[in-house]
Amino acid sequence: MDGNESDSSDNGFEDLQIVNRGAEDDDDSADGSDVVHLGHDANDERDNEDGNGSEADSEEEHFYDISIAASHSYLGAGLAVVRGRSVVEAGWAGRVPALAHHGVLFPGETVPMLLPRAHDAALLVQAIRRDKLFGLLCPDEVGVMLSGYGVLCEVMMAGIDETQDEPTSVTFKARAIHRFRLLKMPKTTIPLSAYARMRTVEVVVLPELCARDTLRAARLHSLDPLRGPTHLAPVQRRLRTLDAAVTPWPLFVYEIFDYESMRHAIHDYFRTIMLEDKLPEDAVSLSFWVASNLALSAADRLALFAVDDALLRLHMEVHFIRRKSVLCCSSCMAQIARKEHIFPMSSEGVHSNYTNLGGYMHDILTVSEVCGVAPSGAASAEYSWFPGYTWTVAVCANCMVHVGWRFEAMKRSLRPSEFYGLCRNYVQPYDTDEARGEQ
Ligand SMILES: [Zn+2]
Repeated sequence: MDGNESDSSDNGFEDLQIVNRGAEDDDDSADGSDVVHLGHDANDERDNEDGNGSEADSEEEHFYDISIAASHSYLGAGLAVVRGRSVVEAGWAGRVPALAHHGVLFPGETVPMLLPRAHDAALLVQAIRRDKLFGLLCPDEVGVMLSGYGVLCEVMMAGIDETQDEPTSVTFKARAIHRFRLLKMPKTTIPLSAYARMRTVEVVVLPELCARDTLRAARLHSLDPLRGPTHLAPVQRRLRTLDAAVTPWPLFVYEIFDYESMRHAIHDYFRTIMLEDKLPEDAVSLSFWVASNLALSAADRLALFAVDDALLRLHMEVHFIRRKSVLCCSSCMAQIARKEHIFPMSSEGVHSNYTNLGGYMHDILTVSEVCGVAPSGAASAEYSWFPGYTWTVAVCANCMVHVGWRFEAMKRSLRPSEFYGLCRNYVQPYDTDEARGEQ
């Protein structure tokens, strides 16, 4: 899209959400499901409303179906399900094609991608025909070097033209399934740009530990009837205090291994943003899901990623949840949004990955309100990640650097009427004074 180029260059990122779309936006869902799409005829509908105000006013308000955003229908209708699954377990070592990614992805996240270059597309198509696996390499804390970690992804749906021997591009939808590290960790730092194009790497899949009963032998068994998820949190804390009093282990050790109390704290937090019914049951999946749905700095996300034990990861996440912070522009640290305004516009959660037609994947956090953010350029409905909404580039009002997009409903009856999608890489949490005072 034109008129929007000025803002992202300062961040070192090459593009924005949209480039010109070659084909008309198709209204079929990418996965062939029966998702209703609002985008393809929304211009017509708004025109009609504008010409007939009384009819529009009489239309009943309705809330956005957040499963629409999760379907990633902007990728087009040409994606077909890729059948067959590869079984990969901890300790598995092998060679996979891999690309550098601009952030940390956690297992369970959906990865919509477009590889616009023939070289990358050819390697990916080979991988799909072999085991459907490829890797995305995570950057270090600063975002310019390889961290040595990555996430193994499995292609779920792809648009492959079987009549072409050598595809020039490929669009697909994958799912992150396992953490890995490079089998031979580099002795010197390697810039992320060395993997801007897909290259084969040797990786080893990391273990996902969850030692829930580690302290079974170090607790008062006479109190076991009082333990369990149905008991009140204060009672559970009292029991942990008693356990700690009669063993050499300090209380914080019992806190780390108390899955139920951590789950309770996580449930309470996500209830405030109406996502508590999405919490996975098992500790490993829960730890990844929470990591995906918290607004964290790149360093904190990498720290969570590097942990092998799910309970320790959850313990760290509960600490982050209790930390009071605001979201700031990464460039000038001006305040952009408050954590209480984070809300889900996708059934995948408050954070989701979306790709543009240049092949750049953005990691978007949705918020209902912002401050210190200004629109830049004209609104467009083209290739909208949220069909039914137009998008406008949003920049930090202080330093004019790109921080995300404003989305506006095309139908007056649609709720929310507007919201913002902030790029995880362009905003970062900043601890408030109250939080620092408590510590
Ligand atoms: Zn700024």
